[in-house]
Amino acid sequence: MTIIEDVIIRKILDSRGNPTVEVDLFTETGMGRFSAPSGASTGIHEVAAFPEGSIEKAIHVYREEVVPQIIGMDSLDQEGMDLFLSDLDGTEDLSRIGGNLIVATSLANAKAAADALGLPLYRYLGGMMQNNLPYPMGNVLGGGKHAIGGTDIQEFLVVPQGETFIDSAFAGASVHKRVAGILKKKYPTAAIGKGDEGAWVAKVSNDEALDIVSTACKEVADEVGFEIQPALDVAAASFFKDGTYHYADRKLDTQGQINYMAELADKYDLFSIEDPFDEDDFEGFADLTDKVGDRCLIIGDDLFVTNEERLAKGIEIGSANAILIKPNQIGTLTGTMDTVKLAHEAGYQNVISHRSGETTDTAIAHLGVAFSSICIKTGAVSGERIAKLNELMRIEEEI
Ligand code: PGA
Ligand code: ZN
Repeated sequence: MTIIEDVIIRKILDSRGNPTVEVDLFTETGMGRFSAPSGASTGIHEVAAFPEGSIEKAIHVYREEVVPQIIGMDSLDQEGMDLFLSDLDGTEDLSRIGGNLIVATSLANAKAAADALGLPLYRYLGGMMQNNLPYPMGNVLGGGKHAIGGTDIQEFLVVPQGETFIDSAFAGASVHKRVAGILKKKYPTAAIGKGDEGAWVAKVSNDEALDIVSTACKEVADEVGFEIQPALDVAAASFFKDGTYHYADRKLDTQGQINYMAELADKYDLFSIEDPFDEDDFEGFADLTDKVGDRCLIIGDDLFVTNEERLAKGIEIGSANAILIKPNQIGTLTGTMDTVKLAHEAGYQNVISHRSGETTDTAIAHLGVAFSSICIKTGAVSGERIAKLNELMRIEEEI
């Protein structure tokens, strides 16, 4: 038993300059702090980050209603805590108290429990069975809902596969730099910006973006001596309307989209394709997985929203072969772990992930180790992203 003695909640900034919440949780012998991130291309089946109205009001309700009931609970009983929080909210989508307030409490509690036991979070959560760290998966070029004037495919990412995490993370940063170099050479007078996750934003087509990123991958791979593969997060729900995928230069029906994605997977030797279809198109995901799933990960993000039931539905018909894991999509650590467990049982890979609006919190680095995630998707550069990458370098040193 390690009894919770105090809980503090505050409003803080996220990386987009929007407000979010941070929770400090104190037990007799430990302390945990977690700040919740927010998405921009959120899935419609995610829990609600905040209730209707102001964050101040949500914080007020939390202080009045949640805090007094948490004090005195046992921090080591994570499941009990998470069940209590979901029950107290009482809605399916956690919209009364707010998913971000709940996830901040849930993870602050796990960190406090780990601290009380003198363990790093990844060890407390039972990781380190095989000492495998995830590969970094970093966004280097993009657009979608994360930038103005970029590509319609949301993210062009890279997955460096070095012997060590530190080598891979530095290779990812090198590819990010190389992409800027290629863009400058091709378009010497054009303005080049950055999106929410630190990826470059330029006026290029999707195919041109892939040419640039795959060239940068090959160049840096030759220098570092290990494989670096490109990857995509299409976030297709953001440009799917009336049964059609509306690209800037073409319109595709579902069959056209399956063929286009399969063509890109092979032409560019893609490591993975995330959300290639609308967020309810389980069949489209299954067809593409059938076609290229033996050589490319098909990842469900908006499709599964870290939700065990949605993942179970996908497993049944073979939609995707991997799942993106974002704790604030489901609201509690227990909910997140149940989904990861089901993914493991079904032979699906999992990718632990940041949100486009992040904080400097490093917990997902620990979750990536505890969950044996194949990748950690957390950008290649910028403060709130490198916070996670650098934490994994510390964990690597510790092992
Ligand atoms: P979000 O996007 O955090 O804005 O939802 C990230 C993603 O789609 O993976
Ligand atoms: Zn996504």
